[in-house]
Amino acid sequence: MAARLALSRWRAAPAAAGRGPLLSCRRWSGAKADTVYDVVVSGGGLVGAAMACALGHDTHFCDKKILLLEAGPKKVWEKLPETYSNRVSSISPGSATLLSSFGAWDHICNMRYRAFRRMQVWDACSEALIMFDKDNLDDMGYIVENDVIMCALTKQLEAVSDRVMVLYRSKAVGYTWPYPFPMTDSSPWVHITLGDGSTLQTKLLIGADGHNSGVRQAAGIQNVSWNYDQSAVVATLHLSEATENNVAWQRFLPSGPIALLPLSDTLSSLVWSTSHEHAAELVSMDEEKFVDAINSAFWSDANHTDFIDSAGAMLQYAVAFLKPTKVSARQLPPSVARVDARSRMSFPLGLGHAAEYVRPRLALIGDAAHRVHPLAGQGVNMGFGDISSLVHHLSAAAFNGKDLGSMSHLTGYETDRQRHNTALLAATDLLKRLYSTSATPLVLLRTWGLQATNAVSPLKEQIMAFASK
Ligand SMILES: Cc1cc2nc3c(=O)[nH]c(=O)nc-3n(C[C@H](O)[C@H](O)[C@H](O)COP(=O)(O)OP(=O)(O)OC[C@H]3O[C@@H](n4cnc5c(N)ncnc54)[C@H](O)[C@@H]3O)c2cc1C
Repeated sequence: MAARLALSRWRAAPAAAGRGPLLSCRRWSGAKADTVYDVVVSGGGLVGAAMACALGHDTHFCDKKILLLEAGPKKVWEKLPETYSNRVSSISPGSATLLSSFGAWDHICNMRYRAFRRMQVWDACSEALIMFDKDNLDDMGYIVENDVIMCALTKQLEAVSDRVMVLYRSKAVGYTWPYPFPMTDSSPWVHITLGDGSTLQTKLLIGADGHNSGVRQAAGIQNVSWNYDQSAVVATLHLSEATENNVAWQRFLPSGPIALLPLSDTLSSLVWSTSHEHAAELVSMDEEKFVDAINSAFWSDANHTDFIDSAGAMLQYAVAFLKPTKVSARQLPPSVARVDARSRMSFPLGLGHAAEYVRPRLALIGDAAHRVHPLAGQGVNMGFGDISSLVHHLSAAAFNGKDLGSMSHLTGYETDRQRHNTALLAATDLLKRLYSTSATPLVLLRTWGLQATNAVSPLKEQIMAFASK
């Protein structure tokens, strides 16, 4: 069965051979290439670097040769910069556990991060809101600069440099797949050509090369994708006054969600998804106007209507009558005083999902397998979830002396992760669409939906449990 699946999956690959000028997917025909690695991870972003770290620290991989290829330079700091970076991620407790499992979380804690204990999400077109919090004051998640995570991963890669080799400024430009059946004079491994013309071989290639994945394209794996009509504007913001600042805020405006994520008592990070034109305007407007636009986006009731407010109030009274306690009250977000110079930037947003995460001798992880709107703060968390699952399956295979590139355990990874990731992608896309309108019936539907969800604790707990993986 596995062999049949393997063959049928590879039949699709030649069709992709001509897709990109740089990425060949010829079959390997017997030329002698040098080192054979057990695993090559192509792409050393947050997800690829964490994957290489996790394998390097796995006891069942102590006799394996692992290579991480990264097109960009090594990112090292002599000391932590005082200025916060404008690129941050909301890291779930599950992701923090993964990072702890190979020592990277300790480095993050020694550098900097901010825990948040509550999350308030509310609608700009009504009074509806949902408040996520933990009764026992556990952390709901952590806001960490991407550079801090990367620095921690780099340190932990150095700690296992005897088994994980990292090649920076090394772009993979071609992948050559083995025949599905052994043939005389043919190599059973994946061949990789680098930008400098050198080649290497691997028993398992892990594609972690981002949402435009060359690995995925060279393998001819279908990718369902579309661009959203939105860009995300990020910036580092100074609050008007110091606060406990342990709440993550997100308000859904008709033009897209705006989020304020805590960094310190006086600083927060902005992620504002809006139309491309508005994003360009926000990035270039003067500082005072930009700060006013943010405060008004969080505070203004200009999108409210009497009808929706009355309909929302009716449900609220009904909820209060049926369930007199325990419905979380609205909190007011902090106001913003200024923005860090040069911290404003914008990124186009889109959705993507690979139809297959694995092929014989190949696995896709992170944005190479799935790209999601940042409104749920789940992109890199999904990638870290992929790592937990793939390492679990590969570690068992290594322990049992099995071929790492075999479909028998790779399909286990694919099943685990597609189940989780497709649900999250679908929910995020639905939320994006549901909140991108101020049409009265839909505003009413989401107002009641949000209020009802806020009132039903088990449902909220389910959502929190899913998002904290
Ligand atoms: C505005 C914004 C806010 C976000 N906020 C959050 C959040 O709060 N929480 C969250 O979980 N997620 C968030 N995300 C999503 C998250 O940033 C991404 O999911 C994550 O960075 C993807 O990591 P990756 O390593 O898979 O891909 P990438 O970051 O794209 O890394 C790919 C790497 O591969 C390298 N590469 C590419 N091609 C090659 C090649 N041929 N050879 C060698 N190397 C190659 C690249 O140089 C790069 O380093 C956000 C995204 C955006 C845009």
